[in-house]
Amino acid sequence: MTQEIMHPRFVWWNGQRRPWEECTIHVTELGWSTVGAVFEGIRAYTGDRPDELYIFRLREHLERLERSMRLVRLKLEYSLDELSEATIDLLRANNVHEDSYIRPLAYAADTSGKRFAQIGHDAALLVNTSPMASHLKSGMTQVAKVSSWRRISEDVMPPRIKNLSNYRNSQLAGMEARLDGYDTAVLLNNQGKVSEGPGACVMLVSGNQVVTPHVGSGILESITRDALIVLLREVLDLEVVEREVDRTELYLADEVFTCGTAAEVTPITSIDKYPVGNGSIGPVTRALESAFDDVLRGRDARYGHWRTPVELAVPAVV
Ligand code: PMP
Repeated sequence: MTQEIMHPRFVWWNGQRRPWEECTIHVTELGWSTVGAVFEGIRAYTGDRPDELYIFRLREHLERLERSMRLVRLKLEYSLDELSEATIDLLRANNVHEDSYIRPLAYAADTSGKRFAQIGHDAALLVNTSPMASHLKSGMTQVAKVSSWRRISEDVMPPRIKNLSNYRNSQLAGMEARLDGYDTAVLLNNQGKVSEGPGACVMLVSGNQVVTPHVGSGILESITRDALIVLLREVLDLEVVEREVDRTELYLADEVFTCGTAAEVTPITSIDKYPVGNGSIGPVTRALESAFDDVLRGRDARYGHWRTPVELAVPAVV
């Protein structure tokens, strides 16, 4: 039996598509190089035909990567068009015919022997792809707890960007939740208001209104959140309000879900053991999962501008 290859054939690294095996760095590079690293998480989805693959909001993700790099003082040496082309080329070269995750990572290169606060490092940039199945419309749900950890705030580390070090805070909250028997956490900010999950934003449905913490609540400037606000308004005809959210609103909401590139739309069925609504997936969450799936897989022509088609040359062998 042949061993299944668990990694893609190619990654894109510092300006070139290269074979996976060739992309190595010396062990002394570990450490400070990634403390100031920033990254992106992007999804590509298959369509109904075997040659269809769509990257969701690639441009917006690359723009956020640019903002993240700017904030941590890493210089981006490539144009967003070049990075876009590189990403499309990589998916084609890796013969990707399944729902996938694309992760650009920018870090300080050549840090061995240097001080961590040194300015002006060369930025290394890596883009890799890996399979990531969608759980939309699968019935998957999660139970959550309000974390005892507070979300990092603007005066500590910038939550609005995808700074790798921010994820230490996320990791502590996520580990605590799982050890306590929950699937995920909701973090409050240092004003005690609802902020977000370890790797996803939070929305709640109350009557005909959808409420979500505003960007000043210590959240990442989420691209999914932005898209879902549009779909909730335009497709489901609901009112969406971005404001401060109290913890007890979560306990009293009709529906709660998290959202993000990896989280997509994930229904939350209880928080701190308060059942959300009747404890199963609510109608708004269900309708939103469906509407979002149609957008991601190329069925909803109204949101074509959010999709970058990869145009696979070779149809998948079934
Ligand atoms: N908040 C955090 C902390 C995240 O890590 C993510 C995932 N990137 C999100 C929110 C959702 O952001 P996006 O929709 O851009 O993936």
